[in-house]
Amino acid sequence: MRTVYLDHAATTPLDERVLETMLPFLKDNYGNANSPHHLGQKSKVIVEDAREKVAALIGAEPSEIIFTSGGTESDNAVIKGVLAVSGDKNEVITSELEHHAVLHTVELAKMQGVKPVFAEAQNCGTITADAVKEVITDKTALVTIMHVNNEIGTISPLKEIAEVCKEHGVPFHSDTVQSLGKLPINVKDLGVDFLSGSAHKIYGPKGTGIMYVKNGSRWIPWMNGGSQERRRRGGTLNVPGIVGFAKALELAVEEMDERQKHFKKLRSLLLELMDEKLNFNYTVNGPKDKGVPHILNLSFSDQEDHHIDGEMLLLNLDIEGICVSNGSACTSGAVEPSHVLNGIGMEEGLAKSSIRISFGKQNTEEDVKYFVEKLDAVLNRMFSLA
Ligand code: PMP
Repeated sequence: MRTVYLDHAATTPLDERVLETMLPFLKDNYGNANSPHHLGQKSKVIVEDAREKVAALIGAEPSEIIFTSGGTESDNAVIKGVLAVSGDKNEVITSELEHHAVLHTVELAKMQGVKPVFAEAQNCGTITADAVKEVITDKTALVTIMHVNNEIGTISPLKEIAEVCKEHGVPFHSDTVQSLGKLPINVKDLGVDFLSGSAHKIYGPKGTGIMYVKNGSRWIPWMNGGSQERRRRGGTLNVPGIVGFAKALELAVEEMDERQKHFKKLRSLLLELMDEKLNFNYTVNGPKDKGVPHILNLSFSDQEDHHIDGEMLLLNLDIEGICVSNGSACTSGAVEPSHVLNGIGMEEGLAKSSIRISFGKQNTEEDVKYFVEKLDAVLNRMFSLA
C-alpha cells in the first residue's frame, strides 16, 4: 500500500545527509565527550564544532547554546530554571495555545505559588505584543510565548513581544520548536532571552534539542548530574544526536527558501483540488494564509452542515495509507480535544472534527492528488454512515 506521510509537524524522517554525519559517532567514535583520552577528546571537539555551528546559524554565541534531549526538556529547563531564582516575582505570562511542555510545566509551578497569567489570543491564533502588555506587571517573572503554533501554524510577533518584555525588565522565552529551521531566527534581532528547539522537526534525530540562554540571564540548571554540559546540564552528551542536530539545522537554513516555495506550491494545489474535486465543504482553521505554509488545520462538513469526528477521519485516512493528526496533536497516547482550537474560540464539536496536515520536503504533487482523492472517498463513506 502507498504511504503518504502528511504529519511533519509531529516529526520528520531523518535526512540521509544527517544520518551520514551521525554514523561515525554511533560506530567507531564512541568516546564520552567528558573523557580526557583521545577518543573522548575527539567527541569533545566535534560537540564544540556543532555548538559553534548552531550558534552561528541563530546569531548566538557558542557559550549560549546548551544541548538537551529535545523541545520538552528545553521548555521545562527554562521555566523551572527561571522560576527557581525569581524571588518574590511569582507570575508567568503564557498563552492558552502553548504546547503542553509549557502549559503543564507552568501548571505544576502553581504548587510553588506561581500564578499562570494568560495573554489573550487572537482568533487566528496570534499572541500580540499588546496582549502581553495588557497583563505584564512588576510581579511577572517570565513571559513564555511560542513562535509558530504546532496545530494551526500561526506565527506570533516575537520581536514586538520581546520589546514589551525589555521595557518591563522581564525575561522572554519562546518555544521555537516549530519555527527553528523554517523561519529565519536570529536571537539578537528577535531580542529573546531564551529559546527552545528540537532536531526531529527538521529531519534531524529524535531526542535531541537545544536551549538558547542569553549570556547573563538569571537562571539555574534544572537537570543536575555528572558530565555537566558546561556546568549547565548533567548527563552524558548525546554526541551523534548533537552532530545530527547541527547538520539538520545547517541544511534547513541553507534550503529554507526552497522548502518554503515547495510547501507553498503544495498548499495552493491542495486548496485548488479541494475546491475543484471535494464534494464537501471545508474550512481552514486558524491563520488562513498568514501562518507557515506547511501546516493546515482543516474541518469538513456536508451540505446539511453536519460534521464528522476528526479521530475517525484520521483512522479512515490511515486505512488508505495517509498519515495526518488531529485533536491536540502532541498528547501522550489517546487523542485529547484540541486546547488550541478551543483557545481560538472554536466551538468544541467543530474543533473535534478537524485534522491537521503538515507537508514535508519529500512530499510531491502526486501525494496531494492522492490525498484529495482518498479524502473525498472517505468523507463520502463517513457522511453516508453518519
Ligand atoms: N513544542 C512544540 C511547539 C512542539 O510542537 C513540540 C513537539 N510536538 C515540542 C515542544 C516538544 O518537542 P520534543 O518532541 O523535541 O520534546
